[in-house]
Amino acid sequence: SQEYLNLPVVPADTAFGIMADFEADPHPNKVPLIAGAYRDEYGKPWILPSVRMAKERLDEPTHEYLGIAGSPTFLRLAKELVFGKSVDNGQHNIESIQTVSGTGANHLAAVFLARHLRPGRVFIPNPTWVNHKSIWESVGVTVAEYPYFSPVTQQVDIGGILEALEHAEPNDVVILQACAHNPTGVDLSKSQWMQVAEMVQRKKLFAVFDSAYQGFATGDVDGDAWAVRYFAETLSKTDDAAGICVAQSFSKNFGLYGERVGALHFIAPPNFSTQGVRGHLMAIARAEYSNPPRFGASIVETVLGDETLRAQWENDLDTMSSRIQKMRGILREELEKQTEKDWSHVETQIGMFSYTGLTKEHVTQLREDFHVYLLPSGRISVCGLNEGNVEYVARAVGEVTK
Ligand code: PMP
Repeated sequence: SQEYLNLPVVPADTAFGIMADFEADPHPNKVPLIAGAYRDEYGKPWILPSVRMAKERLDEPTHEYLGIAGSPTFLRLAKELVFGKSVDNGQHNIESIQTVSGTGANHLAAVFLARHLRPGRVFIPNPTWVNHKSIWESVGVTVAEYPYFSPVTQQVDIGGILEALEHAEPNDVVILQACAHNPTGVDLSKSQWMQVAEMVQRKKLFAVFDSAYQGFATGDVDGDAWAVRYFAETLSKTDDAAGICVAQSFSKNFGLYGERVGALHFIAPPNFSTQGVRGHLMAIARAEYSNPPRFGASIVETVLGDETLRAQWENDLDTMSSRIQKMRGILREELEKQTEKDWSHVETQIGMFSYTGLTKEHVTQLREDFHVYLLPSGRISVCGLNEGNVEYVARAVGEVTK
């Protein structure tokens, strides 16, 4: 007789589910504030001019396999982008491997660390990008949360972070979002980063930076990399150096979402041989997908390796981040007109998302009565706003919060 496998129903992914509902909604005024993907002032996907120019140069791209670790040129430029031009590409104990975008970089780090560092726990922010939990659970590491955000002050809960990490054990992993924290849009200040770095060092933790918004957050690629560079400078050069890795995504800052461009940069602590790290990362990649996608990486290396294209790209980052900033300002103004409440957090938060403070009930009502779609957590993707819909959204929020 046939035995059936026990496969209980898995709940559908929340964000992708709401996006499908949005697509199916025939209402003419519907507004999508869900997806973490940039939209231009007409609500359309935007191909960065720098990316378009790079594609023209690659008029007959090759379809050959890349090596297991990916394109060496791409990796050198990707590493310089995170750590700065002064990073010593030869001697520094950084191993880099191309990945299937930021998700793949987070996953590769998790598989490697679960296997070779064997942390007791991984500490992830509460709240955070939903995939952090899934990725670490899938490699069998116990997930603990550190409180990240205080809804009362609308600020980083630095006391809560330090208190939680005080209970961590040596070799535990801590996930840190490098900038433009998803979903809150609230980042640590420099002095708060220094406190966390000191804690990571003292408790001998392994820091995994998730860098998905470099340059997209503020338009300034170096400013957005400050925390990563501070950790790399101060923690990796001492005798009892902490291990650090950076999961780098090019989805948002190049608008290459579907091309899956990313890298994992691994700064080995003294008890890890750099060669060993490289070999094992490649062995995992080989067994999982053999070699990374080529096309998107060739676009990124063409842009970053050419002065003119790179200048255009920085311009493009400015176009995206300033449009978002402008929408934040207008949304705040309109909300304050509608509700006579303080909505300054909408303007001061950075990056793609805003944690509005709207409740689940507000979110349901916004969707049912106004066809405005956002996540149940109250997170909106500011990219979905434009001059054609921002007043409508503010009026809708005004109605549901009356
Ligand atoms: N980390 C964070 C914090 C993110 O917000 C995202 C994208 N939503 C990612 C990683 C990964 O995205 P991708 O796999 O497209 O690079």
